[in-house]
Amino acid sequence: MPLISDRETAAAWDRTHSWHPFTQMRDWCDPSHQPLELVRGEGAYLFDATGRRYLDGNSSIWTNLHGHRHPALDAAVRDQLDRVAHTSYLGTAHPPGSFLARKLSQLWPEDRLPRVFFSDDGSTAIEVALKMAIQFWQLTGHPRRQLFLAFDGAYHGDTIGASSLGGVAAFHDRFARYHFPVQRLRSLADLRALPADVIKQAAAVVIEPLIQGAAGMLLWPSGMLAELRQWCDQTGTLLIADEVMTGFGRTGRMFACEHENVVPDLVALAKGLTGGYLPLAATLATAEIFDAFLGGHEEMRTFFHGHSYTANQLGCAVALASLDLFENGGALGQAQALAHTMTAALAPLAEHPLVHEIRQCGTIAGLELRQTSGEPFDWKLQTGRQVCLTARNHGLLTRAIRDTVVLMPPYCATAEDLALALSALTAALAEI
Ligand SMILES: *Cc1c(COP(=O)(O)O)cnc(C)c1O
Repeated sequence: MPLISDRETAAAWDRTHSWHPFTQMRDWCDPSHQPLELVRGEGAYLFDATGRRYLDGNSSIWTNLHGHRHPALDAAVRDQLDRVAHTSYLGTAHPPGSFLARKLSQLWPEDRLPRVFFSDDGSTAIEVALKMAIQFWQLTGHPRRQLFLAFDGAYHGDTIGASSLGGVAAFHDRFARYHFPVQRLRSLADLRALPADVIKQAAAVVIEPLIQGAAGMLLWPSGMLAELRQWCDQTGTLLIADEVMTGFGRTGRMFACEHENVVPDLVALAKGLTGGYLPLAATLATAEIFDAFLGGHEEMRTFFHGHSYTANQLGCAVALASLDLFENGGALGQAQALAHTMTAALAPLAEHPLVHEIRQCGTIAGLELRQTSGEPFDWKLQTGRQVCLTARNHGLLTRAIRDTVVLMPPYCATAEDLALALSALTAALAEI
């Protein structure tokens, strides 16, 4: 494969042809910028084209769980590849899809979320949940219920429906006139203060349970999720949990909702679903929602939604292998142990004059940087970004959300790996 092993050509063609996500491409294409090309992975580490090693400090944007090139996951992909890579889920079924659907629904108590709808990404899983909610209310005689309630700082993805819910102005405001109706909330108090006529129009509340990711790793007050569930029950509003970041052990439990014994009406899963191997997502639904869609063909109750790669067989196979690591490989215990290791490793940084606050939820940590005065840095300085770019030179790969540096390694990361992350961050903070 001469082309992909030719570094110079690859870098040149990246500059002339690729358009990277969330990236100012003028800076990226500047001749002085040498893009980091990752060519190989092993456990918690990634290697660039020159052979340099980096700790995957944000699990490749929150997706990887068990490390790169995990033997069981690699074998699952290879084994499936020897059968078939992809077949359509429109009008046909396949064993990896059937098994995965059952396993995912059984991860929730008492068969409360028995139905699984597959798609490709977190955004599409949310999109599906929103469309299911709207159609559910239409089918059950409440067509006025079409308003979504979402929180400040929320992030649910970048497709237009998902971005309607987004509460990060920089990402979403430009598209506001194309968004569908959303009532924004800061807190439960705002929710309780909603007038009765607004509540009557509410289709669903959408929340990132326990912790808001893209808002900067902000933790909700303990008990908030359970209270939100109660409010939804009292008002007959659907609860949509976005577990795209928090699912599969990230918070120390299989799902964040478990911490408060909450079962949502719809839940979106993606990122860690395949252990970070392949794009696959799922939207889980209650029997009540599913049943509303049943009827004669001519009644037009069908959920007319699907994607070409819905329930991709390779993705389902590797997701099953990842779930097996939870069932039989101690992955949840590993995540819990990592959370403790992270707390201990991060503690010394709390004393650092530029570290304003460390927020942690399980294996998810955010280090908020501020000036020594306690004032935030001018956002135009891109301090968080500079710190992360500098930390790369010390062997740590991660990204910041504005000035909150994210540390969220794969579950196989050890105390030594975290020590490396800490010394890289400390060095970067000294250099900027
Ligand atoms: C990443 C993320 C999404 C969007 O998922 P994509 O796979 O990037 O489309 C949605 N919600 C949350 C909470 C996320 O962290």
